[in-house]
Amino acid sequence: MLPKILLTVLIVLAVFYGYRHLKRVAGRIGGGAGPQPTVKPDPPPPAVEETSRCPVCGTYVVKGRGRRCERPDCPFPG
Ligand SMILES: [Zn+2]
Repeated sequence: MLPKILLTVLIVLAVFYGYRHLKRVAGRIGGGAGPQPTVKPDPPPPAVEETSRCPVCGTYVVKGRGRRCERPDCPFPG
């Protein structure tokens, strides 16, 4: 009687582990549940640079490396 129970337990265990193994293999092949969403890399943030408007000539220049215009009274260093 006991060997029969043991055999049943072994079969159940074999089926259980076989099922788990099959699932793992299927997951490796199929890539899991459903198609994987393609991860798009985030675009680099736009270079936000502080600009200031020249009160004399009216052009916007990037602070720090602004280029002055042709006017002699332009406040930007150039
Ligand atoms: Zn200017």
